[in-house]
Amino acid sequence: MGHNKTYKFLADAERYDADFLVVCWNWRCRRRVVIDRATLLAVIGHKRINSWVEIAETKMRCLRCDHRGATIKLTPGGSPQAIKLQPGAPLPPKGVGLVDWCLAADDVERKRLIRQARG
Ligand SMILES: [Zn+2]
Repeated sequence: MGHNKTYKFLADAERYDADFLVVCWNWRCRRRVVIDRATLLAVIGHKRINSWVEIAETKMRCLRCDHRGATIKLTPGGSPQAIKLQPGAPLPPKGVGLVDWCLAADDVERKRLIRQARG
């Protein structure tokens, strides 16, 4: 987006009205997902992960290939494909992937994800 020089913290996305484009670091996978700005910021805050972009990138985990680490770029906000939490939905607990959680249709599905994460 040409804003990379001043994009140091995830919260900087607010200034540009941007969402996040997350690209898996695994060169054989390179999965790309767009995550709604407010959703990712809420989850990062919830998990107390440092929101410095370079740190947050090392904390991402790919749901397709299980690889750790992904590039987090800015992308224009308001994309209909952006993954977002429904208003009022609880944040994912530790060990539950953000994308799976956001796509969970109901409480039954969310409970299944929690059980799965606990092994
Ligand atoms: Zn991947």
